[in-house]
Amino acid sequence: MIEKNVKKILDELPEGVELVAAAKTRTPEEIKQAVEAGIKIIGENYVQEAQEAFDAVGKKAIWHFIGHLQRNKVKEAVKIFDMIETVDSWKLAQEIDKRLSGEDKAMPVLIEVNSGREEQKFGVLPEDVEALAGDIAGLKHLKLQGLMTMGPMVGDPENARPYFVETRRVFERLKKLSIPGVEMKYLSMGMTNSYKIAVEEGANIVRIGTKIFGPR
Ligand SMILES: *Cc1c(COP(=O)(O)O)cnc(C)c1O
Repeated sequence: MIEKNVKKILDELPEGVELVAAAKTRTPEEIKQAVEAGIKIIGENYVQEAQEAFDAVGKKAIWHFIGHLQRNKVKEAVKIFDMIETVDSWKLAQEIDKRLSGEDKAMPVLIEVNSGREEQKFGVLPEDVEALAGDIAGLKHLKLQGLMTMGPMVGDPENARPYFVETRRVFERLKKLSIPGVEMKYLSMGMTNSYKIAVEEGANIVRIGTKIFGPR
């Protein structure tokens, strides 16, 4: 099933759009199957869970962190992940930078945008993204490469469109600023029910779990 699902999604996605398999709650075995079917990027929400999957799959995949990263997990996270999509505060950015100092390595990151302005959600409000981007640009070990958003959970995926449009607008504005050290190239938006709309609105990373692995 996983193999069929992956092939179908890969066939349908337009060129230039990268697929992240959102793997929370899935077993290392399921994740392995997805990689064998052609998944190149695994998205994990929890460092502990990622560790187990990483032990099984290792460098056959690229690892994106897509959950809320607690500062006390950063030290472990920087060992596993190739990109952190969910930088949502200056404190977290500084902690990542600190944990990478001493290593000759820079971490590609995205800023998570709270495009739905929901109080219970993580992420930076659209109007605060520019200031955080400017600050991150000054950190030696972080490479800001774009934005990520969840958007609110809404019944009809069409209702998510305005939040994708808003995130795209912030993305384009930042790109125009050409901040030294910042390379705005990734816009990560859309999940199982909304990724087609996200792609229409400019996403070039989509994060899909249910449509690959089945219901959680
Ligand atoms: C779970 C998750 C997804 C994928 O959700 P599905 O609806 O299962 O496709 C995408 N992004 C993030 C951040 C997630 O936590």
